[in-house]
Amino acid sequence: MSTAQKHIAFDVENIRQDFPILNRKVNGKPLIYFDNAATSQTPQQVIDVIVDYYTNYNANIHRGVHSLSQEATDAYEQARIKIQKHFNAKHTHEIIYTSGTTHGINLVANGFSSLLKKGDEIIVSALEHHSNIVPWQMLCERTGANLKVIPMNENGELILSEFDSLLNENTKLVFVNHISNALGTINPIEEIIAKAHNVGAAILIDGAQSCPHIKPDVQALDVDFYVCSAHKMCGPTGVGILYGKEDWLKKLPPYQGGGEMIAEVSFEKTTYADLPHKFEAGTPNICGGIAFGAAIDYMNSIGFENIAAYENELLDYATEQLQHIEGLKIYGTAKEKTSVISFNVGTIHPYDIGTILDKMGIAVRTGHHCAQPIMDFYKIPGTIRASFMFYNTKEEIDTFIASLKKAILMLS
Ligand SMILES: *Cc1c(COP(=O)(O)O)cnc(C)c1O
Repeated sequence: MSTAQKHIAFDVENIRQDFPILNRKVNGKPLIYFDNAATSQTPQQVIDVIVDYYTNYNANIHRGVHSLSQEATDAYEQARIKIQKHFNAKHTHEIIYTSGTTHGINLVANGFSSLLKKGDEIIVSALEHHSNIVPWQMLCERTGANLKVIPMNENGELILSEFDSLLNENTKLVFVNHISNALGTINPIEEIIAKAHNVGAAILIDGAQSCPHIKPDVQALDVDFYVCSAHKMCGPTGVGILYGKEDWLKKLPPYQGGGEMIAEVSFEKTTYADLPHKFEAGTPNICGGIAFGAAIDYMNSIGFENIAAYENELLDYATEQLQHIEGLKIYGTAKEKTSVISFNVGTIHPYDIGTILDKMGIAVRTGHHCAQPIMDFYKIPGTIRASFMFYNTKEEIDTFIASLKKAILMLS
């Protein structure tokens, strides 16, 4: 397909009609929402599914013989199949519902407590979100394993030759995000997965930032674990998935005990339920799971290739304009990156710019973006981060640039 045809296929004005929140005003100005890397907005198609659930068939799943419970169970399990197909997992039971990326990582980290011993090694990357650092530090404290870090360069890319020198027969686990939330760097995960497997280590990919832009194929990637959150891909908060290869999920012990996750319970001995229920103790976010399925349908109806192509255009357009602003420095200039731009202007505090932009109706993120080690690397307290999604427009970027220039004038 030529670029011209793609433009016709991608009708952003039409897409924007699906997102009621984009019609609102903030501080008297039309909302410009550039905080998509923190959470995405929700289309009417997904909101309708949520309303329909609570209006018509709210019930607990897998328990009741009554019709409502069966309808809720069916919808929840149908969504699991939808998610399985989207990620191209081999089995439906390799998809574990979680409350989000953080939960999925903790589930795996906790499971490895019983599989690691003193002297084993875990490798993470310098580009990680705190939720992909702290659980591993806790795991190391519990087991006596050591944590090693793949360093990054000035552009915000991982230095893979350094990764090679960290790998050895003691490496049991590698954890890397697919896309950095602070800088937008797309990591070469195919290569990283292959290198980890070469020394027999398991690998978990944090897909929280990639799933809104790229459709991952977990079998082709040959990844052991992959986690994401629905709320960054047009779904609701409080739900996500952990994909795990069947063998690994069988090996890991359950994370939480409770209802739903057992086969039989007595005070002498409890046996666990089969996958996926072994990891799904208690009443889950039923409506959230169903809505996650609807969000995946919605994004596929637009098409991930169209989404990526359009978002790249937005990224290039905004980067080009920002570069012309005096004193502005962009952090994260990797060759492969998504529509996230982290920057600072001179010595102006990011928070001050963020506050003024908010007065103009523009939502950006300021701070360390849950990735303090990256900020330490650049020796800065934080950045301003603008992150675009497929429902954003070049006109919005124009307004953002003009407003940013005003803010800089006010602050200098
Ligand atoms: C948002 C994010 C997380 C945490 O996701 P939650 O939904 O808050 O659990 C983890 N890693 C990355 C890269 C993220 O962007």
